[in-house]
This record gives sequence, C-alpha cells and structure tokens, in this order.
Amino acid sequence: MLPFKLIYSDEYYLPIGAHVFPAEKYRRIHQRLLETGVAEPTDFAKPKPASDQDILLVHTPQYVQKLKTGTLSAREELEMEVPYSPELVDAFWLAAGGSILAADFALNDRAAFNIGGGFHHAFPDHGEGFCMIHDVAVAIRRMQRDDKITRAMTVDCDVHHGNGTAAIFAGTRVPTSPLPSNGPATLPAAPAKLRSAHAGDVFTISLHQEHNYPAWKPPSSIDVDLPDEIGDDDYLAWLDNALSSGLRQFEPELLCYIAGADPYKEDQLGGLCLTMEGLKRRDELVFRVAKARDIPVMVTFAGGYARRVEDTVEIHCNTVIAAKQIFAKK
Ligand SMILES: [Zn+2]
Repeated sequence: MLPFKLIYSDEYYLPIGAHVFPAEKYRRIHQRLLETGVAEPTDFAKPKPASDQDILLVHTPQYVQKLKTGTLSAREELEMEVPYSPELVDAFWLAAGGSILAADFALNDRAAFNIGGGFHHAFPDHGEGFCMIHDVAVAIRRMQRDDKITRAMTVDCDVHHGNGTAAIFAGTRVPTSPLPSNGPATLPAAPAKLRSAHAGDVFTISLHQEHNYPAWKPPSSIDVDLPDEIGDDDYLAWLDNALSSGLRQFEPELLCYIAGADPYKEDQLGGLCLTMEGLKRRDELVFRVAKARDIPVMVTFAGGYARRVEDTVEIHCNTVIAAKQIFAKK
C-alpha cells in the first residue's frame, strides 16, 4: 500500500477527439500503476466534481456562465485550443474536484496525487493552451477558504510557463525582501535566467523553456527562463536553486507540484533535453525538499506530448514511484 492517496476517475478522459494532448493518458497511467504493482486498487480515491462556488473562487462569474451555457465566442474557443462541449466542462470540473481532494489528502498524509489536473494555462476569465479551469488554483483557494492553510507554493516543472498561475496569484502580491544574492555555490554554466518578483499568500515558481508557448509570460514569484535543449544536470541545478531561493523567502503550508512530462527530450511540444532518468531525479528532488521541511505536497500532472504516449505514461508513473520511495522512508 502507498503512503499516500492517488485521486483518479475514468471520467478524467478529455473528450477532445484526435488531438496532440493524449486524453487517454490518465486511464493508461491508472492501468500501468496497477499492472506494475506500484499501486493497489485501495490506493485510489474517487473525486467529486468541484462545485460552482469552488470554481468561482478563481474564475469570473462571466466566464463560468459562458462555460455552463456554451456561449464562448469563436475566438475564446480557439484560444482554449480544445473543442468546447458540455462533457468537456464536466471533465474540467471533475479535475478541479480531484485537485481539491488531493490537497485535502496531502494536508493529512503529507503527500497526495491527482492523476490528472495541472491546467496551469487557465486564467480567471478565459481558457488557454488546452486548459479551461485552473484546478490547482481552485484547490489552493478552497483550502484557504476552509482555513486549512494560509500560504501555498506552486512549483511548476512543466516545460511551458505557468502563465495562468502567475496571473491568478499576482493580484495577491505584497512587497517582500528581494532574493538574497548568495545563491548555491554550484550555479550551472548554461545561460538560463532567474527572475524574481514579490509574493503574497501564494508563491509561484515556474521553470520553463523561455522560447516556447506562451509568448506572454506574466511574472511568477520566481521564473527560471531556460535555454533550448538544456539537459538533466543543468536543469536540476536550476530547480535546486529556485527551490532554495523560494523557501528562503517563503514558508508554505502546502506545496503544489505541477509535474509536467514535457521537459522530456522526445516531447513534440517541448525543446528541452531531459532524459527519463533526469525527470525522475527532478521528482525526487522536489519530494526530498518537501519532506525535509515537512511541507505537504500535492501533485498534478499537466502536459506531456512525447512521440510515444507510453513514454508520457511512464514519466508520470515514475513520479508516483519517486514519491513512494521518498515518503516510504521513515
Ligand atoms: Zn506543457
């Protein structure tokens, strides 16, 4: 039995037809975790859809109304890059409910996974880049509303910048002291750039390929703009640096890890060069840091567009295996 819960439903499948987003990945991850003995049926918990009130903690009433009545404009649907349907709305409400449940379990068990979610390109008033509803932001706001936490941190390792996350939580920023100048002794040689802004009650970290979608990257609390084709060691050094910097400035009560599979070297929408092994080390680093500081961690999966869907599925399963290894140790 795993030392944490995996939140999953067959209804996570996104009804978007033939699409670069492999909507079947959730079912395949579930199946593979069971077949390989990583998880047992009792490790899984079923989510309920988020309520409209939950969604409205992040999204505007006008946008929610458009989604519920099927009245998005053609331009809004185009920007979302997934075909609108009432069934798709249901799938996103369910994914948000899954992230709420995962956050709740994480606060009790120190870790939990939503085997879905991570829709970090959704903004309060519109969807973008395959993302309709920002499930992670909804989960954070719900935990805050229920007085379970006051401060959360997002650690976004999807290859694409977490623009929705940055925009949603930018409004809550208050001035804090700037980054200390004494970074880690072993800064990587690759010419990545680290930008920092101020944090309020949610501190946002995004490590992403600079020359990739989205063109406009609103500032996160820490943005690491990575050059094309960066490899495992440089990536891990930057992640380590960003986590250390963030946790020097901010003490979260919940860490939301957005574990995109698309920094992988074989990804069709990514231009970084991480190996399968490097991605596993990335996961281990995040979990080790969270465990050492006793910060509950909630995981969502976000993107993954490897040429072979099996690779995307394997990368996501490896994230569960990494957590199993780290959190099983006393
Ligand atoms: Zn992505």
